[in-house]
Amino acid sequence: MALRERIAALIARQGPISVAEYMTLALHDPQEGYYATRDPLGEAGDFITAPEVSQMFGELIGLWLAQCWQDQGAPAQPLLVELGPGRGTLMADALRALQRAAPAFFEQVSLDLVEASPRLRKRQADVLAPFSKDIRWWRDVHDLPADRPLFLVANEFFDALPVRQYVKTARGWCERMVTAGADGALSFALSPVPASPGVVPDRRVAATLGGLYEVSRAGEAIVEAIARQIIMRGGSALIVDYGYEHSGYGETLQAVRSHSFADVLSDPGLNDLSAHVDFAALREAALAGGAAVFGPVPQGAFLKRLGIGERAQRLGGERVEHQLDRLVADDQMGTLFKALAIVPPAAPAPAGF
Ligand code: SAH
Repeated sequence: MALRERIAALIARQGPISVAEYMTLALHDPQEGYYATRDPLGEAGDFITAPEVSQMFGELIGLWLAQCWQDQGAPAQPLLVELGPGRGTLMADALRALQRAAPAFFEQVSLDLVEASPRLRKRQADVLAPFSKDIRWWRDVHDLPADRPLFLVANEFFDALPVRQYVKTARGWCERMVTAGADGALSFALSPVPASPGVVPDRRVAATLGGLYEVSRAGEAIVEAIARQIIMRGGSALIVDYGYEHSGYGETLQAVRSHSFADVLSDPGLNDLSAHVDFAALREAALAGGAAVFGPVPQGAFLKRLGIGERAQRLGGERVEHQLDRLVADDQMGTLFKALAIVPPAAPAPAGF
């Protein structure tokens, strides 16, 4: 049975499901989930990410992590961690740069990759094999070894995490659910019962009627866990994603297929589903975890401060100029995408912030 029909049957049995549950089924159903069944990245896929645009992205991030490790006195046995490594491109570019420019860090790190998709794990194993590193894969961030310093990067990972949505009504904030008609068509419907007080934070209560509050509890929990580990064991985390710095009251959940927008509910499993990252919420989660937080700063400014202009000049050529423009220009990925850093309270400000 197609995934949409199975979701409709589930709803017929147990009632409407949250938007977050719907996202999880659509993205990670073992048989037909979007990430479980395909490699969505690249020109021939559904979307292109910064590491797929240019090797410069992964190189600079690798060196950024090595700099943080140096700044913290080169702690022993660092873990090099990536959340959602996709095709392994960022990590391969980072490791190549580290081999040359930061061999001490390269030699000491072991690799821990958090990846849900068996298909992408296989691809990561192939791409990273030449570096002869021990690689461990984890299904969940909360399974990562907690006893060592953590040098972590996540690019376009948080936007793939499930969000819940609440709409302000005359009755209060009501959760937006996914329901199914008799014909199996999926549609949105508001829960008749308002959410309990506290589900929508105080700073959000000023919304006007119809305002929508979108929240990724999974994203907040992951950031808080990372922050706790970083203050206990040392390390740093770099989160790069598209999203907003000041929380608003609009829906950002979107479906994408073949580089175009699609309907969120019509073809679960066939479209990528993602939501803009609420950087204010991630900041708060990291501060709650006790860490120091830098940013978010726009991706363009961040990469320029790390020297992407000089790197592009060294590589040279029209193709590299074009890649540079895609990564840093304001009308490309330079402003919508943002970088956020998490470091121990006593560590110096990381490069680029
Ligand atoms: N970072 C890569 C890929 C981004 S796509 C790049 O920039 O090109 C999102 C990645 O996160 C994919 O590898 C996907 O399989 C993985 N992913 C998405 N949701 C996940 C989850 N809940 N747990 C673990 N991995 C997840």
